[in-house]
Amino acid sequence: VSIRYSDSVNEYLKYVALRIDSIEIEPLIVRLSISIGDTKVIRKQMMILIIISVLIAVIVASGLGLQFANRITRPINELINFSKNITKGNFKSHVRVEANDEIGMLACSFTEMQQQLDKTITQLREKNAEMKAMLDSMIGGVIAVDNKNRIILINNAAIEIFNINSEKIIGENILLVVRNQLFNKLIKKYYKDASRDKQQVTDIQVDEQHYKIYCSKIETKQEDKTSKIIGALIIIQDITNIRKLEQIRSDFVSNVTHEIKTPLTSIKGFTDTLKNGAIDDKEVAQHFLDIIDIEAERLSNLIGDILELSEIETMKKDIRIENYCLEDIVKEVLDVVTQSAAQKNIEIGYTLDSDIHLVRVNKDRLKQILLNLVDNGIKYNNEGGKVHIVCKRHYKMIEFQVKDNGIGICEQHIPRLFERFYRVDKGRSRNQGGTGLGLSIVKHIVNLYGGHLKVESEIGKGTVFIIQLPIAV
Ligand code: ADP
Repeated sequence: VSIRYSDSVNEYLKYVALRIDSIEIEPLIVRLSISIGDTKVIRKQMMILIIISVLIAVIVASGLGLQFANRITRPINELINFSKNITKGNFKSHVRVEANDEIGMLACSFTEMQQQLDKTITQLREKNAEMKAMLDSMIGGVIAVDNKNRIILINNAAIEIFNINSEKIIGENILLVVRNQLFNKLIKKYYKDASRDKQQVTDIQVDEQHYKIYCSKIETKQEDKTSKIIGALIIIQDITNIRKLEQIRSDFVSNVTHEIKTPLTSIKGFTDTLKNGAIDDKEVAQHFLDIIDIEAERLSNLIGDILELSEIETMKKDIRIENYCLEDIVKEVLDVVTQSAAQKNIEIGYTLDSDIHLVRVNKDRLKQILLNLVDNGIKYNNEGGKVHIVCKRHYKMIEFQVKDNGIGICEQHIPRLFERFYRVDKGRSRNQGGTGLGLSIVKHIVNLYGGHLKVESEIGKGTVFIIQLPIAV
């Protein structure tokens, strides 16, 4: 091959000489020449052709590739979005993949898994809601904590008992949430015991309320049948009423002992004095015997009242109920106190609505209420005072008002007036032969009948006891 200037055509030519060897003929030399300008044109044309074909090939290939890629990535993207929705807790979303290939099968499995998860989680939610409702309906408090004292579960009662305001309680440390020394001590004591087999119990006080706290382990069974302690269960029981009852009982025992001791000491003292010679002095002996008589009477009244009170207290319902004329009952009551009223020159009387005739009641109990109140009206009254019983209808009830114009009761004593042995003026009550149980008996009888009881009083002006009983016929 040679490129040189051709003088004959006056331009550069490309010469190519090729020897062709053959057996049949003599060897040949083929010589060709072509203008360089022509080869450039040919090369350019070929280049254009190649570029166009490459471009067409690229466009066609990328079109086909895109379509193919789209067929694979679209369902994958669908699945990615779908699984993201599930992670966010949206179990209602759907996946739209219609392909019949592996991705289509994967989408089907995803949908099945989503439906199963949705079902399981709905069941779990329902179970949780039931459990929470049950725990919240419990009167006692329940708290479960894990081994690091973090709250796993707490019911409304416990939140109210400890007055917990924090918004997010679950996961908080119980010792920081409940600020009660004894409570915290109990939890720490529980964790100190390595085996945690012993239930820890303590009594605590929050404001005016008393609680018993029980702390025991929460144990779960593992697959290999061994058990694992995962935390502690704390039960809080309100024992305020039990405490109050215990207090009342112990107060009652000490009061009774004290009340019995005083007259007994007095009787013993005067008997000893009589035995030591005072019996020979007739006048003195008579005086001492009178005192012994009064003290014995007081003892007998006291024991009578205690028995009466315990009988009424243990009674669920009065069974000896019959129809009686109310006026007769009121008259009988006033007859009993006529003498004591006369001694203090106290005027006693009654008014009775004309439409009341019969009442359905245990006569003795009603008499006892009225007698205790009228007797107090006389006892805590001044010479020449008045005591009056008013009986009237109040809807389906009979209302009794026992009014006096005596010494009155200071407002601060009124809330405690019906407690056993509660006296405003101890000395005056004892001197009058009072046991301190009269109003307590009244209150218990009124309660037995499901009635209402009220006191209005003003110092120096007098007192009125208002009782409503459902005994109208
Ligand atoms: P007591 O046997 O001492 O009278 P009560 O239970 O009947 O016991 O009464 C309790 C206390 O209430 C009395 O000690 C007295 O101080 C006061 N009280 C009761 N009734 C009256 C009244 N009508 N007027 C003034 N004080 C009264």
